[in-house]
This record gives sequence, structure tokens and C-alpha cells, in this order.
Amino acid sequence: MPTIDVNIERCKGCERCIDACPQEILGMSQKLNNKGYKFAVMVDEPRCIGCSQCAIACPDVAIEVYVEGAHYQFFQY
Ligand code: SF4
Ligand code: SF4
Repeated sequence: MPTIDVNIERCKGCERCIDACPQEILGMSQKLNNKGYKFAVMVDEPRCIGCSQCAIACPDVAIEVYVEGAHYQFFQY
């Protein structure tokens, strides 16, 4: 099953990933990270199709995608 991993300390809560997800399965946390931002959270993981649109849209490289044993990390820096 595809899944994603959000590095919550990189996230600045811009919500671009939420808008980018075709499955509309990302939302914002009620908690804050150490920088004081709400962060992206998966709200319906079984519906993830592993398309990586969330990771591509993220300007802070906070999302990594896992599909069938493969690990996709975009613009690593
Ligand atoms: S990989 Fe695709 S379906 Fe899964 S959370 Fe990201 S944008 Fe949504
Ligand atoms: S696009 Fe990146 S920085 Fe913006 S809310 Fe999503 S994970 Fe956080």
C-alpha cells in the first residue's frame, strides 16, 4: 500500500500538498511543530495512490513517498 512520510519539522503549513492531492486525503494538524506551524497530516491513508503530487508540490521537501518498496524523495538537499 502506498504511503507518505511528512517531516513535520520541515513543514511550514502552507497547505500546497493538500491542494495538490487528487485524493483529498491530506489535512492540517491541530498541533504545532517546534517552529510554531501546523503541519500536514494524512487523514485517510488507505486511499493514497502513491502519485507523489504532494511531495512534488512541497516547497520544503517535507514529504517522502513509499510505493511497493520503492522510496521516492524529491529534490533532496
Ligand atoms: S501520494 Fe498522491 S494520493 Fe498519496 S497523499 Fe500524496 S498526493 Fe495524495
Ligand atoms: S506543502 Fe510541504 S510545507 Fe506545505 S503544508 Fe505540505 S508538507 Fe507542509
